Amino acid sequence: MTERKPQTEPSATIPENLRAVKEEIAAAAKAAAREPGAITLVAVSKLQDEEKIRQALEAGHRVFGENRVQEAKAKWPQFRDSTPDIVLHLIGPLQTNKARDAVELFDVIESLDRLKLGRALADAMEKSGRRPDCLIQVNTGEEPQKTGVLPAEADSLIAACRDDLGLPVVGLMCIPPQDEEPSLHFALLDEIARRNGLADLSMGMSGDYAIAVRFGATHVRVGTGVFGPRLDPGTA
Ligand SMILES: *Cc1c(COP(=O)(O)O)cnc(C)c1O
Repeated sequence: MTERKPQTEPSATIPENLRAVKEEIAAAAKAAAREPGAITLVAVSKLQDEEKIRQALEAGHRVFGENRVQEAKAKWPQFRDSTPDIVLHLIGPLQTNKARDAVELFDVIESLDRLKLGRALADAMEKSGRRPDCLIQVNTGEEPQKTGVLPAEADSLIAACRDDLGLPVVGLMCIPPQDEEPSLHFALLDEIARRNGLADLSMGMSGDYAIAVRFGATHVRVGTGVFGPRLDPGTA
């Protein structure tokens, strides 16, 4: 066990937050007659101070999410050197020309949302020999400003990426519209995953992860609930 710091120190809050979020996940799982171990907490560390990430690592947490390739490239290699069992998820939009970097850097790519990107990832995987798991991002709210494949086109993208390109597609991801009841979106994602035989469901953020667990999430992506407010992008 690592040494406990006094609770009055601000540095004590990350382990406490992690514990509280994990307890809430476990409670929501239990209420839904699910195994708490079936849900992975992806701690979203975008725009967070590196000291906070260090505290999460010290507390034993290993699974993290970043939404930008450039930022992750600057932050994570140093942590990986000292902690080889880190699992890093890409949860933000991915440009085709960053596919190679993403394949090198991430263990899971959650934002596969179009065939052109699927082709770039397949090519990058063949060249690097690395095969990060892929999740197809679905734009369940059909919001024009958001990335993600439309629900009506999800089945064919899944088939093209998994069956034609041979990508390791293991699940689906969604980000529900901010001002809507998220449960309808979670249920839709679950339905698309079931009919395509996909096991992983990445859904639920700081405000709604307990609901997502009830609707079958296998991965919840929690940022501010673990690390507190994010830094201003301009200063990061
Ligand atoms: C930032 C982000 C999160 C985490 O959001 P919080 O509200 O801070 O928990 C989850 N998913 C995606 C795709 C994100 O970009």
